[in-house]
Amino acid sequence: MATVKVNQLAKDDLFWQIDYKHDRCTLCGKCVASCPFQAIEAKVEKRRKVVSEDITPNPKVYFQTIPVIKQVISEYNFCRGCGICEKVCPNDAIKPVRNSDHRFQAKYRATVADPFKRGGRSNLETDGRTLDKIKVGRISQMTDPSLDAQRHTFDMRAPFGRVLAPNEIPLEVDSCGRLVLKNNLPPVRWIYPIIIGDMSIGALSWRMWEALAIATAYLNEEVGIPIRMCSGEGGVPVRLLKSRFLKYIILQIASGHFGWNRIVNAMPHMVEDPAGVLIKIGQGAKPGDGGLLMAKKVAKHIQEIRGVPKADLLSPPNHQGLYSIEESVQKMFLSFNAAFKFRVPVAIKVAASATSVSVYNNLLRDPYNIVGGFFLDGIDGGTGAAHEISLDHTGHPIVSKLRDCYKAALHQGKQGQIPLWAAGGMGKNWNLAADAFKMICLGANGIFTGKLMLQLAGCVGNDMGKCNACNTGLCPVGICTQNPTLVKRLDIDKVAENIVNYFIAVDHELKKLMAPVGNSSLPVGRSDALISTDKSVAERLDINYAC
Ligand code: SF4
Ligand code: SF4
Repeated sequence: MATVKVNQLAKDDLFWQIDYKHDRCTLCGKCVASCPFQAIEAKVEKRRKVVSEDITPNPKVYFQTIPVIKQVISEYNFCRGCGICEKVCPNDAIKPVRNSDHRFQAKYRATVADPFKRGGRSNLETDGRTLDKIKVGRISQMTDPSLDAQRHTFDMRAPFGRVLAPNEIPLEVDSCGRLVLKNNLPPVRWIYPIIIGDMSIGALSWRMWEALAIATAYLNEEVGIPIRMCSGEGGVPVRLLKSRFLKYIILQIASGHFGWNRIVNAMPHMVEDPAGVLIKIGQGAKPGDGGLLMAKKVAKHIQEIRGVPKADLLSPPNHQGLYSIEESVQKMFLSFNAAFKFRVPVAIKVAASATSVSVYNNLLRDPYNIVGGFFLDGIDGGTGAAHEISLDHTGHPIVSKLRDCYKAALHQGKQGQIPLWAAGGMGKNWNLAADAFKMICLGANGIFTGKLMLQLAGCVGNDMGKCNACNTGLCPVGICTQNPTLVKRLDIDKVAENIVNYFIAVDHELKKLMAPVGNSSLPVGRSDALISTDKSVAERLDINYAC
């Protein structure tokens, strides 16, 4: 008897198993051709058949060789459960089935000797989100006169940039007795309270990135929703840098400084200022771990935009020279403000953590008034590739941390002066407007969202481990790959249309929440409008408990 190879990978060890029905299959080969992970292949099987051809029993054994589709059993070409094979099969002959008894990750690590990596998903369970335990409860229709969401005019704009308190505005009376400004005010852009969050070109395919940029421009110019999109760390195509559409783009710089050579070189040719600059210190889905772009995704055009060779691109976990908030952040802010001659607001993005309030408190005391926004990113977001260990075990939920920051500003009497923007799972349950409204009532000036955009584009992944292969460069729907064959699967116009339509609906929904509480402008900090049926949530966030 052969030795039993107990350490060999078996089909039962895998996350996903292929359920294949030979009797329905016509061997058209579409499933094999469409699987980007090469997790299935055409093979032959030897089958034993017993037949009796006489009128009296006379069993005979025949062996047949038949072509079949088989699952590949490997740590490298394993099925991700994306379901593309099922989508393309004309005969319902194949589908992936989740295997709850798998032991794949232990086997993977033991064989490959490498930490498991995946797309930024399932950081917190979808059920039981704090925001889903909060309702808009103050709708009396008598003490707070409701507005008519359909007919009333709403001011839906939020600040991006330093807002000075009235007593800080540098006014003086000139020789003619007129009130004039002594110095320039810090730049502020009044924009839609939802920003399309920073997903880099490189992490996303060029088609996905272009669809986001087209949707942003269309929403601004045709629909009248002044939404902004953040570039992510990875640069911006020069064509866009030199175009008038740059005014809708927030340029991001992070610890890898990818793409900034091109941005700096393009500055003399810019016909518009960018919407802002966002200095990313950290991100909520993997705090303390830098961004990760695998070499497989560093295609030629990405090398050109980022100014790098083909290699794994790891942003360092911190900015060089960032040893204290006071010195280093001020230094960066000053240089970026100076780069655009103090015309463009500059904000900072940090991962929500136990120390976020201290950072925010320090920034609020900034005597130069140059910090144009505090972007706080919670654990439950993130679209990029990352080590699973960081995704699953580091980070801080956003809701209580945003609330703490708002209350810290309140304590200093400086609320609203450095606008608070929050992210981390916004729109995760498809209800972006409700999430935005609740976060605004808790103290955010606005929110930013990313992962939802991928869902609108047709991402087949979910938070229960389906697909999540964004790190591999083999996204089966062309969203986050640079493989030309896969990128072609994404229809730019359709994706842009979905995003535009979604935001038009969100805009109506936001007004539908603002109107009943009687607010015609964004209800920043109106926590009296919220209730929770969960006592611990109500106590932690200092909102009304209702039962
Ligand atoms: S579900 Fe996706 S990864 Fe699995 S075999 Fe089908 S196409 Fe390949
Ligand atoms: S479909 Fe693409 S974007 Fe969605 S989880 Fe899979 S690899 Fe990531």
